Amino acid sequence: MAGGSCLDLREQRGNQDIIDAFGKVLSGKNNYKTVESIPKKMCSGCKKELKPADKFCSDCGAKAQ
Ligand SMILES: [Zn+2]
Repeated sequence: MAGGSCLDLREQRGNQDIIDAFGKVLSGKNNYKTVESIPKKMCSGCKKELKPADKFCSDCGAKAQ
């Protein structure tokens, strides 16, 4: 049963390579992270992570950034 975990690691490595290559094509830059290009909203008060649709924080009611 030595092959199973090795195969899993290779698949994950391959996915990261595809993500890197995809970011390179999209941005024309090396090391561009497509995942980090998705904007995240944050509460301006308590810094809680909010959904993109949220206009106000569900925790403290402060306006979303
Ligand atoms: Zn808040």
